[in-house]
Amino acid sequence: MDTTPHTPFIIAGRGLAAVLIANELIAQGTAPSDILLCAPPHDPIASHVPGALMHPLPGSSLKPKPDVMLAYDTSLKTLQAWKQTHPEHVLQTSMLRLDRGMKRGKRYIKSYTNTHQEYSPELTHTLTPHDALHQEQPALAKDCTQAVQYGPTFCVALGSLLPILLEDLIQKGVQQEPSKIESIQRDETQNTWTIHTEQTHTLSTTHLILAVGPTLHQWFPDLPLGVNGGELLLIKNTPDTTLNRMLSAGGHISQMPSCAPHTQVLGSSYLRPHDGQEPHTEEAFYRPDSEAVEQVTQMIGRFFPPALTSPVQKIWRGRRAVYLPDKHPLVGDVPGAQNLYVLGTLGSKGLLWGPFAAKQLVTKIMNPHTHTIPMSCSTKRVEHDAWTCTITQ
Ligand SMILES: Cc1cc2nc3c(=O)[nH]c(=O)nc-3n(C[C@H](O)[C@H](O)[C@H](O)COP(=O)(O)OP(=O)(O)OC[C@H]3O[C@@H](n4cnc5c(N)ncnc54)[C@H](O)[C@@H]3O)c2cc1C
Repeated sequence: MDTTPHTPFIIAGRGLAAVLIANELIAQGTAPSDILLCAPPHDPIASHVPGALMHPLPGSSLKPKPDVMLAYDTSLKTLQAWKQTHPEHVLQTSMLRLDRGMKRGKRYIKSYTNTHQEYSPELTHTLTPHDALHQEQPALAKDCTQAVQYGPTFCVALGSLLPILLEDLIQKGVQQEPSKIESIQRDETQNTWTIHTEQTHTLSTTHLILAVGPTLHQWFPDLPLGVNGGELLLIKNTPDTTLNRMLSAGGHISQMPSCAPHTQVLGSSYLRPHDGQEPHTEEAFYRPDSEAVEQVTQMIGRFFPPALTSPVQKIWRGRRAVYLPDKHPLVGDVPGAQNLYVLGTLGSKGLLWGPFAAKQLVTKIMNPHTHTIPMSCSTKRVEHDAWTCTITQ
């Protein structure tokens, strides 16, 4: 008799994506005990980012990307719920995209003026003129002439909130296996996946969902993915440098939620491996603290000069995966593999896209013949051949 323990849903991962999927499965009627999270518990992962921002218009244009406003509306609901239950980890505020009279700022204003009709009704927005801007934020650089302001936006102390969200799931009855998945095997007669873990445990499931962050390329080496390293700084602020808003003008700065009082988060850098360097090793993304501090503080100091002199409390390093063609998430079933799913390549926009992506994925699993995941984030937009899974036995 087969004694391999069977769980209807196994999620590979314990990061933001995995937590959002587990919560969504429960919200759509799955018993918590039918869900198992399988991942090593002590990996340093992207979801341990100390201060993550959520706003709907990242990048140098304020024209919304396809479906991003739908993602924003879903994220808004999730973050407002987290704010209710865990207020010390979630700061709700608004964002100022600063025009400093240069090319980037001009693009903010032009793209805002031409496209703000496409924004979600949930997003309040306005053009803030020079005097109001400097009255509100006296420590701004003098060359900030105006800003597009929009909100609500959020800063989440994700690194400290995530363990709490995981613990909530365990308390509800979600199971966990503290181990990395090494290989998987399809049993067509049983309609199951057999999973072999690093600790030589064997598990069985009907639905296997991969929420494995930047290691997705190890499963599907032909996917056109990029992995970017990055640093964030936490700095100490004083009463006269306290921010009422998030600021962004190529790099961003935000006040942290109240679990980290008098602290601001500055970010973030993008580090790519040098030519010839193995892209998936620690060294490819590491540079000395002094270089990280110099680059990030200079980037933010251009529009918020106190960043240049405030004491640095912490340098945090992480890695994010992006789907190179359009930098949107990959969500849905793995073409050609029965009941194998992916939620990945959240890039630097995990909070913006994650809740929407999890809802889309779970709705698809529950309604495979009637629900269609939007093409902007679907696994279907990738050519079939790129989905060859190298750890299938
Ligand atoms: C410098 C930096 C700044 C960022 N800033 C922001 C920001 O301001 N706002 C924002 O929204 N996002 C930001 N992000 C991105 C955000 O952190 C990610 O989008 C998000 O955390 C990704 O979550 P994930 O669950 O997909 O991946 P991860 O957090 O990487 O989790 C992957 C999980 O998979 C597990 N795993 C891997 N391989 C296996 C395997 N073989 N078997 C089992 N488990 C496995 C890992 O152990 C881990 O638990 C930033 C990231 C970085 C690096």
